[in-house]
Amino acid sequence: SFFEPHDARYPPASCAPPSTSGSTFNMPRSALDLYTPRFVKGIGREKCGLCPICYEPKERGGEGRSEWLSMKFSAFNYHMQYVHGISPSSALPFSPPTAFRRAKRKVNHKNEKSTLLEGHCHRCGEWAAMEGVKCVEAKLKEIYWWKHTAQCHKGSNAAGESAAHLDDELGRKVIAAYSASHPESGSSGASTPKNTLNLAPRKSGGLKRMDVDDGESNASQIF
Ligand SMILES: [Zn+2]
Ligand SMILES: [Zn+2]
Repeated sequence: SFFEPHDARYPPASCAPPSTSGSTFNMPRSALDLYTPRFVKGIGREKCGLCPICYEPKERGGEGRSEWLSMKFSAFNYHMQYVHGISPSSALPFSPPTAFRRAKRKVNHKNEKSTLLEGHCHRCGEWAAMEGVKCVEAKLKEIYWWKHTAQCHKGSNAAGESAAHLDDELGRKVIAAYSASHPESGSSGASTPKNTLNLAPRKSGGLKRMDVDDGESNASQIF
């Protein structure tokens, strides 16, 4: 994340880990998967997934709370993409712009900006607006970029990206434990996590895929 969001909705993290009671474990695509909920509960229309990022303590980049989101109505998908900027396809953060520029624009109303910050996209080569035209502060500044990346990137990450994961003792333990129980996942237990995922084979009988649509077709509805 290249902006620090300040959001009063989030209560301070408590010392005790948030509850996962009443839920069942859900296998991620790999130890480095930042998208897949590790816990799910409910069935059918009631099925919810636990955000794996909000659950982490603040010192590890999370919010220290249980955020349960509907998986049947794309709430989980929207949350991961538009609160955390995580790609459902790659299970990694959306790539940031490879360059910035400030472009002049025609002002149609006195409440509009005369220039807009734009970001260059590694995938389509276009410049996408990174702020709204109105002279108001966005709550979450990344949202403009993520609207572009959610439609465009489709799991593509810019060349040379790395260090999407916190490289701490707990992280290394989790990767080591995952690698030990998934020998086919190869070298994902390396001490320096690479920005690549060793996706499990998608054959029947393999890892259980999440029962959630990717929301790409109707992602614009929430804006
Ligand atoms: Zn979250
Ligand atoms: Zn693009």
